[in-house]
Amino acid sequence: MIYLDYSATTPVSYDVLESYIRATKDFPGNPNSLHSLGVKSKTLMASAKKQISDIFNVLESEIIFTGGATMSNNLAIIGTCLANMKYGNHLIVSKLEHPSVYKICNYLESIGFEISYVDNDQDGLIDFNDLKRKMRPDTILVSICAVNSEVGTRQPLKMLRQIIKKENNNTIFHSDMTQALGKVSISLHDVDIASASAHKIYGPKGIGLLYKNSRVNITPLLYGSGPDIFNPGTPPVPLIVAFSKAIRLATNDIDKRENFVRRLNTILVDELSKIEGVIINQTKISIPHILNISLKNIKPETFIHALEDYEIYLSTNTACSSGELSTAVMAIFQDKKRASSTIRISLSHLTTTDELYKFIATFKKVYTRLSTLKTPTDLD
Ligand code: PMP
Repeated sequence: MIYLDYSATTPVSYDVLESYIRATKDFPGNPNSLHSLGVKSKTLMASAKKQISDIFNVLESEIIFTGGATMSNNLAIIGTCLANMKYGNHLIVSKLEHPSVYKICNYLESIGFEISYVDNDQDGLIDFNDLKRKMRPDTILVSICAVNSEVGTRQPLKMLRQIIKKENNNTIFHSDMTQALGKVSISLHDVDIASASAHKIYGPKGIGLLYKNSRVNITPLLYGSGPDIFNPGTPPVPLIVAFSKAIRLATNDIDKRENFVRRLNTILVDELSKIEGVIINQTKISIPHILNISLKNIKPETFIHALEDYEIYLSTNTACSSGELSTAVMAIFQDKKRASSTIRISLSHLTTTDELYKFIATFKKVYTRLSTLKTPTDLD
């Protein structure tokens, strides 16, 4: 098997799984219980949280666990809107967000919030002047992802923060860091709130986090028992312990891993750009882990299923919006045909050069076969 869909999800690392199993077996108590078994679980959970907050150099109270990045985005965006309605009803988001952010925005629009979409340049970099122009006294939130999930464009969050705060110091800056965490270095101090997910960094599915600076007010979306007002109920201690381990492992050696993935990306781009009919959707600010391409002559779904016969796995645009027009390719390259024929190849430090060359050879073989078979389509 050659897995090249690491941006959709990652396999759980063995060490992370071991932490999960140990915490499950040895810490059965509910951390909300008063007895010693409960206290033991609570202490373990607190130390896992402390490890996370130490890595990011933030307060423990600033880390909120959620069920994944979709839930973090919901809590971040809706929670901020509900808590800050008295200051305004205007939000700014980029055209490079994950579908979950747009769905949240659609909901907010339906209940009276106003959304502006900030432009980006031809590299996918946020247009600073457009951001300045769109900022208003009633702008309560700006949400811009750290790394786009389809084309991998990475934003200069620190600079964006400066622009936002200069225009309106009360505006809250949220960043969906799901595709950045563990791939490139990030600083939570560049933003007010940030979303992330464990399953993108070799952790388990079903847990994510929201960083929320202590000065920022958000309204909880869930109500229930337990001391955690944002995530009530019984805390999933093994998932929290495993997430903490995954963050520690993913943030170690991050530069070395990134350099390795960059070398893989260069090989891939060199080889695929030689194939007629393959368009490389990579820009100066794309991270190397995500390589988006468009196929001129073949439907992306057909190609992906054909590769499956060779046990090669990758995605069309994102796993969460397969089959639809790629919003990011559209926002960056402004070309509907190109945006409707995308494939995302996502690499990891676990990808071997041997796997990569096998993939390239199979890609060429399948591409040639399907191109010669093809009947002209509207993608020509
Ligand atoms: N944001 C981004 C940028 C993503 O790539 C994803 C996952 N595809 C999500 C949010 C949703 O994450 P989760 O699956 O953890 O809900």
